[in-house]
Amino acid sequence: MRGREPKPLPIFDGHNDVLLRLWLKQSENAVADFITGDGKGHLDLPRMAKGGFAGGMFAIFVPHPEDRDLEDEDVNPPPAGEVSTAMAIQPALAMASLLFRIAREAPDRFKICRTAADIRSSMAAGAIAAVLHIEGAECIDTKFKSLDVLYESGLRSLGIVWSRPNQFGHGVPFRFPSSPDTGPGLTEAGKDLVRVCNELRIVIDLSHLSEKGFWDVARLSKAPLIATHSNAHAISASSRNLTDDQIRAIAASGGMIGLNFANGFLRSDGSWRNDTGLDMMLRHLDHLIELAGADHVGLGSDFDGARIPAAIGDVTGLPALIRAVAEHGYDAALVTKLCSENWIKALARTWGN
Ligand code: ZN
Repeated sequence: MRGREPKPLPIFDGHNDVLLRLWLKQSENAVADFITGDGKGHLDLPRMAKGGFAGGMFAIFVPHPEDRDLEDEDVNPPPAGEVSTAMAIQPALAMASLLFRIAREAPDRFKICRTAADIRSSMAAGAIAAVLHIEGAECIDTKFKSLDVLYESGLRSLGIVWSRPNQFGHGVPFRFPSSPDTGPGLTEAGKDLVRVCNELRIVIDLSHLSEKGFWDVARLSKAPLIATHSNAHAISASSRNLTDDQIRAIAASGGMIGLNFANGFLRSDGSWRNDTGLDMMLRHLDHLIELAGADHVGLGSDFDGARIPAAIGDVTGLPALIRAVAEHGYDAALVTKLCSENWIKALARTWGN
C-alpha cells in the first residue's frame, strides 16, 4: 500500500486554454467532462486538484478555422489567419458560457473571481479561483460595447492581441530566431482600449504583442505591465519572448511575468519537441528573477494551449516542477511567491482590491 502523497503546494497560474479545448469538443458533455475528468489535454478538475492547481486566468481564445497545429520543427510556420469581430463574438460567448456553467455546476470546487480577495477566499476554501481572460481582443468592438458586457460578466484581464493583427494592434507571428520587433504597434483604437482598460482596471496582457505595441502600452498605461505567459528572449530567441529591457520595464512598473511551459518558447533551438528538460524552465526562471527580482515572476503554463515538456506531461506534473525549483536552491519563501503570491499581489495592485 502506498502512503498518502503530501498535499501539493497551491499554484495560481497566469494562463490556460482549457475553455478552448472544451469548446472544440462541440459536445453537450464538455462541462461534465471537465468536472468529472476526461483525462484529455492538460487540465480537468480532478487532475487540477492532484497537481495543486488552485487558480488562474482562464482564456477565451478564438482560433481561425484554417489554422493548424504546429509540428515539432515548425519554428517559422505560415502566418495565422485573421479573425473579424463578427467571427469572434459567438465563439467568445460560448467559451465564457462554459466557464460560467462549470462554476454553476461545481460551485464548491470552482469559483469565478473578480477581486484579489475573491482569489484568496476561493483558494482558502479549496475551490479553483478562476479569472476570466480574453486572449486576442477580436470580439471587442471599437466602441467597447461588448467590453462593457464582458466586464460586468467578470472579465478582469485582456490580451490586446494574439499572434496576428487585429483592430487594436499587431501580434508577433511565431518566428525563431527573431526579435519581438516584428511589426507596427497599437492602432488608434488600441490606444483607446488601453485607456478604457485602465478606467475599468482590467489587466492588459502583453504576451503576444509586438515590441512596438509593448512600448506603446508601457508609455500609455497607468497600470502594472503584465505578460501572463512569456519567457526570456536571452535564453530562447523566439519572437514570443521578452527582451531584457522589457523584463526590466515590467518589474519597474510593479508588473508580472508568467513562465510559459511551451517547448518552443523554452528551448534554445526553438523546436516544439517535448524532450525539453526541467533545467530549461529553471534557466528562464533564473534569468527572469535576476532581471525582474523575486516579486515579479510566477507561472503562466499555457496548459491546453501548447505542447509542453514530457517531464511535466499535464497539470499533475506541477509538483515535479516545484520540486526541481526547490532542489535548484530557491528557498521556501521564494517558491511560495512563484507559485501564487506574486500573481495575487500583482492582480491586487492592478485591480485596486
Ligand atoms: Zn498565448
